[in-house]
Amino acid sequence: MISVADGQARILAQVTTVTPPELVPVSQGLSRVLAEDLRAPFDVPPADNSAVDGYAVASADVPSDGSATLRVIADLPAGSVFDGALAPGQAIRIMTGAPVPAGADTVIPQELVEREGERVTIPPIAKGANVRLRGEDVTGGAVVIPSGSVLRPQELGLIASLGLPQILVRQRPRVAILSTGDEVAEPGESRKPGQIYDSNRFSLRGLVEAAGGAVTDFGIVPDVPDELKVQLREASQTAEVVLTSGGVSVGVYDLVKDVLREIGGIDFWQVAMQPGRPLAVGRIGGSHFFGLPGNPVASMLTFLLFVRPTIWKLAGRRELFPPQFTAVAAEPMRKRTGRREFKRGVLRFGARGWEVNTTGPQGSGILTSMVMANCLIIVEEARGDVKPGETVLVEPFEWF
Ligand code: AMP
Ligand code: MG
Repeated sequence: MISVADGQARILAQVTTVTPPELVPVSQGLSRVLAEDLRAPFDVPPADNSAVDGYAVASADVPSDGSATLRVIADLPAGSVFDGALAPGQAIRIMTGAPVPAGADTVIPQELVEREGERVTIPPIAKGANVRLRGEDVTGGAVVIPSGSVLRPQELGLIASLGLPQILVRQRPRVAILSTGDEVAEPGESRKPGQIYDSNRFSLRGLVEAAGGAVTDFGIVPDVPDELKVQLREASQTAEVVLTSGGVSVGVYDLVKDVLREIGGIDFWQVAMQPGRPLAVGRIGGSHFFGLPGNPVASMLTFLLFVRPTIWKLAGRRELFPPQFTAVAAEPMRKRTGRREFKRGVLRFGARGWEVNTTGPQGSGILTSMVMANCLIIVEEARGDVKPGETVLVEPFEWF
């Protein structure tokens, strides 16, 4: 049986395709992956400008103590530029964001001065105070967002501030999903005795979309080898990644591995983890295939550990794994050595710093354990039972 880390490394070593780039409006760029190093076409801010509403002066005219009186020669709203230059003894009324006029190097906030007609009396202030310098945010020509970055709201704002209406991002990797099992019924349809409603296809669609992939839904396929073959072949022709759930265990109707052997190839089956042990990984044609376990928690977990990094690498992301932290176990946790266990946890800040509890019963079919959780608790292979007060690894959900 392969370890989680070895399985991940083995899969990622085979993921080389990077989806082609496409141009999208910046307004559509959220969560997309940047496909080129983004360089600033100019300095931001483009000119020295005022950080406050006040008076632009030359530092040579500022008194070192007491006060000095200057003559106000112009009013400068944001967006307008003063043509001339400030002469000694002069000041210019300036608004936040307006370029600092030639001859001035300091801005005195309006609440610190006294104005009488064209005269303004100013106190001492440090040279350069309240001036935002040209290029202090971004230097023209510099890479401001490296290729492979995921675009968050702040990146979109920065791109727009550079005057760019469009950006080059990676196309979304295409991911086909299907559920297997005679017992699995479509929500909204009637459920025969012994049937359960399909949850995996809906959790998995959400996971794929949250990871930046585009879903093609192949529905529910019964435990009939020929039907599975047809669907999987077609799926592999439309998608870079094919996901099934169910049918990878050791039961008589667990057909996925046999079908995979016939129409593609198995790379490995079974991972030393809990939940999620019966994961089957391989290829069908040019597609990466993941036979995820049927149990709802196990299918989500194996997605997070193996499929998400694959999608992220296909999309050219630089970071393939979310960060992990440590927290204090607030309760005893059962753990069998020799495998990596993933418990669903509730992480909160308490008397001992970051503390984590499990969500309660941890069966691999208990989907409410995922619903209640805000993190995974990761207990490594070599460890046994965890005592309260010991440190464990946690991986918060929805890391961004
Ligand atoms: P299997 O590996 O096919 O035997 O499935 C393991 C368990 O997961 C069984 O209890 C299945 O009923 C359940 N299961 C399989 N597929 C789904 C699905 N799409 N949604 C919810 N539960 C499922
Ligand atoms: Mg099944």
